[in-house]
Amino acid sequence: MNVVSVMAHQDDEMRCLGTMLRCRDRGDRLHFICLTDGSKGLVDRPDTGREEAAAVRRAEMSDLCGALGASYRCLGEPDEYLADTPAVRDALIDAIREAGAELVFTHYHEDYNADHVLTHHLVHHCAMQSCLPVIGRRAPLASHPAVFCVEPHGTSLFAPSHFVDVTAVEEEKVALLCRHRSQEIAMRRAVSAGFDDLCRVPDAYWGQKVGCRYAEPFVPMSGRGGTKPFAVLP
Ligand SMILES: [Zn+2]
Repeated sequence: MNVVSVMAHQDDEMRCLGTMLRCRDRGDRLHFICLTDGSKGLVDRPDTGREEAAAVRRAEMSDLCGALGASYRCLGEPDEYLADTPAVRDALIDAIREAGAELVFTHYHEDYNADHVLTHHLVHHCAMQSCLPVIGRRAPLASHPAVFCVEPHGTSLFAPSHFVDVTAVEEEKVALLCRHRSQEIAMRRAVSAGFDDLCRVPDAYWGQKVGCRYAEPFVPMSGRGGTKPFAVLP
């Protein structure tokens, strides 16, 4: 199965990476798509130019994907200014088709970041269009991929219905995320926590609710096609 993270920024995969590692362990192929270039992420170095910052984020995400043998596609839209345009829709449909997406993880419809919220809505539209023949350059997918939304950051109401035990891969998940070195530094400055805390605290919270040490929670994407009548998650 082709498993695809479609997120606004490099490092947003932190809420589904454990589950993707579980998918890898059952033989799935992993893909990562980022809509923006991440160029506003260097909050500790605000004078860094867009191209230089984007290169840092690209190198870190490519390093993570390389360690996993996963594909990486960045649509290169401007960080914090993601917009819904025909070109962005076409590019996302193309990327979803290129990955042969069968299982997609993306943002929840409520989140603290506007790029995250718009990414959710773009996936809602483009996952559906990816299996239709009218739009796009590549051949359509055979069927609509299953789509799951990850836990949002911040105080949004979020009532998950699906959980994956990631206890066995939590160490690897955190170690992989630390390859986003610039973000480890930036988040320690912004929220006084690095990837270790940012993963283990919520994963342990959900884990104790469902009877394991660490778990990732999900909500199936509503609408036509994204929710399946069969088990998809590991
Ligand atoms: Zn983000």
